[in-house]
Amino acid sequence: MHTLPPDTHTHTALCKHARGGIADYVRAAQQNGLAGITFADHCPAPDGYDPQHRMVIEQFDGYRRGVLDAREQAAPFPVGFGIEADYYEGGTDFLRNWLPRRQFDLVIGSVHYIGDWGFDNPANRTQWKTVDITAAWRRYFELVGRLADTGLYQVVGHLDLPKKFGFRPADPDLREMAAPALDRIAAAGMAVELNTSGLHKEAREMYPSPLLLAMLRERDIPICFGSDAHAPEEVGRAFGEAIRAAREAGYTRYASFPPCSPPGTLLPLPA
Ligand SMILES: [Zn+2]
Ligand SMILES: [Zn+2]
Repeated sequence: MHTLPPDTHTHTALCKHARGGIADYVRAAQQNGLAGITFADHCPAPDGYDPQHRMVIEQFDGYRRGVLDAREQAAPFPVGFGIEADYYEGGTDFLRNWLPRRQFDLVIGSVHYIGDWGFDNPANRTQWKTVDITAAWRRYFELVGRLADTGLYQVVGHLDLPKKFGFRPADPDLREMAAPALDRIAAAGMAVELNTSGLHKEAREMYPSPLLLAMLRERDIPICFGSDAHAPEEVGRAFGEAIRAAREAGYTRYASFPPCSPPGTLLPLPA
């Protein structure tokens, strides 16, 4: 069996909506034939942003110790120390200072809020029925463009997350609103993850969609693979399907990050 790409997006119980110990996730990655695993739990936010989905800053040292201990125990199997940091209005003041000093192997940048609407939170799902869907998506992609402009992140998380509950704009609108954001992602030298968690949501499709994946390919934007696991059995979920989707879009390589390889190294996709 060919080794599968590393899973670059997994959570821990610290985010308050995941379960299993760090070592259980690592074991799952090994058992599933992955080349490595990177933890990217939700970044603490001392300004009180979205407290129900993240560790408090006092827990951060424990997070780091937990991941680094797991790395030591699993060696030589690569275990990455990463973070999923949100982009939101006003959030970058903290991140600009804090992120670079933490020596992360990988920083994933995600947008989970449009204004003060946590649009992917099941508790806020009904709000999708009251908004102009196309306008909401347009605001979302504007935020993704700003995320790229910060230069703080290496990978964009779940690029078309607003589709989670199935509320989507028409393809021509999507293409037109996503293009400037993707141009900015390319200009920033960032990668985008193929996040398989969307397959198991109402969207029934990985993030990003084939249409957006083709647009990434046109711009030569590298891809990596993330399950967004919130439980050990979800590590590396549907990676075979994600690799097929990448190949269908014309990709032959994926981006790999420390400790698997130097940042952004392009490796051949497994057959
Ligand atoms: Zn996320
Ligand atoms: Zn996540």
